[in-house]
Amino acid sequence: MDHFNLRNGELHAEDVPLAAIADAVGTPVYVYSRATLERHLQVFREGLSGLDDPLIAYSVKANPNAALLAVLAKQGAGADVVSAGELLRAVAAGIPAGKIVFSGVGKTAAEMRIALEHGIYQFNLESEPEAEMLSAIAVQMGKIANVAYRINPDVDALTHAKISTGKAENKFGIPYESSLVAYAALARMPGLRIQGVDVHIGSQLTTLAPFEAAFSRLGVLIGQLREAGHSIETADLGGGLGVPYDPSEPLPPSPAEYGAMVQRITARWNVRLLFEPGRVIAGNAGVLLSRVIRVKQGATQPFVIVDAAMNDLVRPAMYEAWHDIRAVRPRNSQITASVVGPICETGDSFASGRTIDAVEADDLIAFATAGAYGANMATTYNSRPLVPEVLVSGDKWAIVRARPPIEALIAGDSIPDWVR
Ligand SMILES: *Cc1c(COP(=O)(O)O)cnc(C)c1O
Repeated sequence: MDHFNLRNGELHAEDVPLAAIADAVGTPVYVYSRATLERHLQVFREGLSGLDDPLIAYSVKANPNAALLAVLAKQGAGADVVSAGELLRAVAAGIPAGKIVFSGVGKTAAEMRIALEHGIYQFNLESEPEAEMLSAIAVQMGKIANVAYRINPDVDALTHAKISTGKAENKFGIPYESSLVAYAALARMPGLRIQGVDVHIGSQLTTLAPFEAAFSRLGVLIGQLREAGHSIETADLGGGLGVPYDPSEPLPPSPAEYGAMVQRITARWNVRLLFEPGRVIAGNAGVLLSRVIRVKQGATQPFVIVDAAMNDLVRPAMYEAWHDIRAVRPRNSQITASVVGPICETGDSFASGRTIDAVEADDLIAFATAGAYGANMATTYNSRPLVPEVLVSGDKWAIVRARPPIEALIAGDSIPDWVR
C-alpha cells in the first residue's frame, strides 16, 4: 500500500497534488511519501513481531537521502551500510552506531578505521584476507571488532542475474563448505570477536523458497559452528524481499508471510536476528515525476518522449525493470506507446509497446515504485544535473535534495594550464 492516489482526478502524494510539486521544483523530480515509508517499516516490523528483539537495519543503498534516513531513525531503524560514506550518512541522520552493520565485499582499511572509531554493531566479512586486515587494524587501534562471516549458501534467488548474490559463482561471501575452516581461522585473529553469521542472497525476490533454502543451510551451519566451540549470538538474514512493480504479476510474499517463514525456520536458533531490508521499505514510497516533452510518431509505434531519462532512473536499462507509468491527470483513454527519455542511447527506454494512460506534450507522468535504487543510482550522463528529491508529509512538502545548477556541473571540471 502507498499514499500516491488519485483525488479529484489528479494524482497526489498524500495530500499534495504532484502537479504543484512539478510546477514549483520542475521535472524530473523524485517525490517520496513519509507516511508510506513509515508504514512499510511498521509492516515489516509487525511481520517480525514473533521474534525477540530483532534488529531491522535498513539497507542504506536503497535510498540514502538524509531526510528518509532521519524518518527511519526516528522509528527506531538501524542501518546496513556498504561504504564509509553510507555509514557517515546514517550516523549524521541520527542512526546510532550500535544499530549499524557494515556489509560489502571490498571494505578498505580506511573504511574499517572509520567503522571501528564509531563502534558499529557488526562487520559482515566476506573473505579471510578481509578478516586479517580488520583484525590488524583493530589491534592497532586497541579495539575489538564484532564480526560475522557472510556465507554464500549456493542458492539461486530466482531474481535478475545482476541482483542475484547467493550462488557459488557470485563474488559474495565465503563458500558454505569452507565455513568451519574459515571460522576456526577467525577465532585465532586477535582483533576480532566472533558474533554471528550472515547471509544475503539477492534482491527483488518474489518467492520465499530461496530464502527458506538459504536460511535452512544457515541453521545447520550455526549448529556445526557451536559444536566446534564458537559462540554464535546473531544471525543476519540480509534483505531482498521483493516489491510489486508490475500489477499484472503475482504479488511477492508479504512481510507477514516472510516473517512467519523466518519464525518457523529459526525457532530453535537461539540468536538475535538481524534484517537488512531496503527495497521493501523504500520502493513504493517514491515516484519519479516527469513531464512529456513531445509525442513522436515512429515507423511502428508512437514514442512518448519524457524529460526523465536513464541517468535519473537506470533500473529499466540496467535490470530490464518494469515501472508502472501513470498519468498525473488521466484522461480516461489509453494509448500503446514506447516511453523513452532524451538520452542518446537506445537503452534509454522505460517501456516499449506499453498500454498507458493517454498523454500529450506537457502532461505529467509518474513512474511508480521508484523510491529504491532510483535517485541514488542517478548520474549526470549527457550533462544532465542530478535529479532533485522532495519529501511529502500530509499537506507539507520540502525539497530534500535540490537540483544542482548546470553551472555547478561545468565548474566541477578544471582545465589544466598546459591545455589552455
Ligand atoms: C543491497 C543489499 C541489501 C538490501 O537489499 P534489498 O533487496 O533492497 O532489500 C541488504 N543487504 C546487503 C548486504 C545488500 O547488499
